[in-house]
Amino acid sequence: MEQRTIIQTKISLIHGDITKQETDAIVNAANPSLMGGGGVDGAIHRAGGKAILEECKELVSKQGRLPTGKAVITTGGNLKAKYVIHTVGPFWQGGTKSEAELLTRAYQESLKLAIKHKLSSISFPSISTGAYGYPVEEASRVAIKAVVSLLRKEATSLEEVVFVLFDSRTYKHYRSALEEIS
Ligand code: ADP
Repeated sequence: MEQRTIIQTKISLIHGDITKQETDAIVNAANPSLMGGGGVDGAIHRAGGKAILEECKELVSKQGRLPTGKAVITTGGNLKAKYVIHTVGPFWQGGTKSEAELLTRAYQESLKLAIKHKLSSISFPSISTGAYGYPVEEASRVAIKAVVSLLRKEATSLEEVVFVLFDSRTYKHYRSALEEIS
C-alpha cells in the first residue's frame, strides 16, 4: 500500500476490488445511461443490488443522461459503502478531445459531491482506463493531480481518498504518479 497526505487527507493506493471497500462512498465509472454495463459498473450493480439501479433510473427520468465529467450520488444498496457516486469519464479519442480536462472533472465533481454530503472517505477506480481506452500511464497522472489539486484548494471533510486498482500494471502507474507529486 502506498500513501501520501495532502493537507489533512490521506491518499492511499490499494490493489483490489472496489465493491469490497468500506469507505463511505465508492465511485462508479458509469456511462451516461446510468443503466449499468461491463467492467467496474457491472460489478458494482451486481454487488449492490437493484436499489442502486432504481435510483439511477429515477435520476435519469428527472434530469436525463449524465454528461461526461458530471457526477450523481445514490444509495450503496447492499454494499458496505453507504453511497455510490456515479461519474462518467471521457472515451479516449487520441487525446485531442479535451480528455484530460474531462477526466479531471469526473474526479473533482465526485469529490465535491462527497464533500457536500460531508463524507469522510471515498474510493475511486481507475476511471476511463478499461472499456473507454484511456492510456493508464496518462490517466493515472491526471487522476492523482485532479485529486491533489482539489484537496489543496477546498476545505474538506475528507479524511481518506483511496484508489482501488484492479491489476498490478494499473497499480504501478498510479504509484509512479503519486510519487511524482511535489
Ligand atoms: P471505463 O469504461 O471508465 O473505462 P471500466 O470499468 O471498463 O471503465 O474500467 C475501469 C477500470 O476499472 C479498469 O482498470 C478495470 O480493470 C477496473 N475494474 C474492473 N472491475 C473492477 C472492480 N471490481 N474494482 C476495481 N476496479 C475494477
